[in-house]
Amino acid sequence: MSTDPMVHHRKKRILAVDDDGLVRRSLELLLGEAGYEPFVVGSGQEALAALVQRHFDLLITDIRMPGMDGLQVIQAVRDYCREMKKHPIPEIVLTAYNDEHVKESAVRLGVREFLMKPFRVDEFLGVLERHLSF
Ligand SMILES: [Mg+2]
Repeated sequence: MSTDPMVHHRKKRILAVDDDGLVRRSLELLLGEAGYEPFVVGSGQEALAALVQRHFDLLITDIRMPGMDGLQVIQAVRDYCREMKKHPIPEIVLTAYNDEHVKESAVRLGVREFLMKPFRVDEFLGVLERHLSF
C-alpha cells in the first residue's frame, strides 16, 4: 500500500451495484453529495468491467438481481482482487428483503455489513465512513 499522503486526499471511489434504476439514482446522488466518487452500475457484469478499469475503495451491492446476484458479485470481486494481488475491497450488502436465508449465505461468505432498503441516510453514511476510515 502506498504511503504517499496524497493518496489520502483523493475522493474515495465507491462501486455500487443495483438493478433498480431508482436506487441507482439515489445512491449516485447520496454518494456524490457526501463527497465520494460514485460509480453506480446495474449488473454484476458491469461491476466487473469497471473493476478492470480502475481501483475502488468500497463495494456496495444489492443481493437480488437478474444474472449475477450480489453474493456472486462479491465472490467474483474477491477472486479478481486475489488474482490481481490487490487489496480486498470492503463490502456492504444492500437488500430490500429481510431475508434470513440470504443473510445467512452472506454471513457465511464473510460479509459483515448489511443495510436494509429503504435505509436512513445518516445510518448509510455512518456505515460508509466506518468502512472507509484508515
Ligand atoms: Mg434488486
